[in-house]
Amino acid sequence: MLNINEQRLLSDLKELSEIGKTSAGGVNRPALSELDVETRNWFKTKATEAGLTIDQDGAGNLTATLPANNPDAKVLLAGSHLDSVPNGGRFDGPVGVLSALESLRTIKESDLDLPVHLRCISFTDEEGSWSSLIGSRAFIGEITAQDLTQVRGGVAAFDEALARIDCTRETVLQAKCDPSDYVGFVEVHIEQGTRLEQQQLNIGVVDEIVGIQWYWLKFLGEAAHSGTMPMADRKDANWGASLFVQRAKDIVKNDFFPGVLNCGQAQFKPGAFNIVPAEVELALELRHGSKEKLDQMEQIILDVAKSSAAEFELDLEVKPVSKVPPAPMSEHVISNIEKAASGLGLSNTRLMSFAGHDTQSLSAIMPASMFFVPSVNGISHNPKEFTHEEDVVNAGNVMLNSLINLAQNIT
Ligand SMILES: [Zn+2]
Repeated sequence: MLNINEQRLLSDLKELSEIGKTSAGGVNRPALSELDVETRNWFKTKATEAGLTIDQDGAGNLTATLPANNPDAKVLLAGSHLDSVPNGGRFDGPVGVLSALESLRTIKESDLDLPVHLRCISFTDEEGSWSSLIGSRAFIGEITAQDLTQVRGGVAAFDEALARIDCTRETVLQAKCDPSDYVGFVEVHIEQGTRLEQQQLNIGVVDEIVGIQWYWLKFLGEAAHSGTMPMADRKDANWGASLFVQRAKDIVKNDFFPGVLNCGQAQFKPGAFNIVPAEVELALELRHGSKEKLDQMEQIILDVAKSSAAEFELDLEVKPVSKVPPAPMSEHVISNIEKAASGLGLSNTRLMSFAGHDTQSLSAIMPASMFFVPSVNGISHNPKEFTHEEDVVNAGNVMLNSLINLAQNIT
């Protein structure tokens, strides 16, 4: 089996980590910032030096292509993102882009004649500094003019930021690719969790990316004097909300493993030491990789909200905020990644991804999957994020051999 140039991959990662480097050892490269522009220029230079062809689409997604001998060949795509969350880590995203870039360089230097154009892609704003997965959603044609007016930070700032990479909201809307040009997509990413580390496994091949549902739940009671209103006569909105959180947590833990639930925000009204809460608004999030289980979970959890409210004679209002369906990964791509990992002698397992990734966008229009390498202590979106060098090298080698396998097994 072919191997990447380990030192070249590690030194790329080191060099890239200098751009937007923070004193805590991480990087700060929010999408479309000056530092993101510097990162993009760095990537273009590296790819040009490797003899690859650089392009940028209307959404600012950057690609580096190694063309096949046959000009009519289709494209096999691989990549991730180079932007970071504010004060983030060095590995989240770059491991994927640089593994893909290094794979293309290695294949270019070898005598392999593959029947596909190989393309490395770095997607714009995966982390959602403006709106999540802008680049990959634009790439699959799933972004609307309205989405682009609801960006974080406001439209004026967004327009100004897009101008830094010679894009406009109009060009973002025109970035849709032609799916018939592509045979598949592969991404490698750090796990951002502890499952691989705990099981001492090298590679996790993702078979599902979770669906995510968000709701506002409003428990409605009656404000009252907290001293003079007898306990027996209260309609305390928080009693219903708290009961709900405890019950819902147990149900998800016991009956919907490995699904997860979070109530990450609560607003009390009127909100004072001495007033019985009239209203508690809870932010509810549900995640599961199986559509069937997520639908079941939704129904049961919303029923529990209703019964928890009823127990204290409260009313309940449910406001759905957003629903992202689970994204099943392609069995064809999964099995070719597994073949690459096993061929390299690396232990591997199948995992659900609990975080969103560009692969979930891509999976809507072409065969796609991704794989994880371990994150130390699962730390991520944090300057302490760390992945051992040998795992970064494994990312590169599994990517390289997955691409070769897929190129030689076009369905
Ligand atoms: Zn990421």
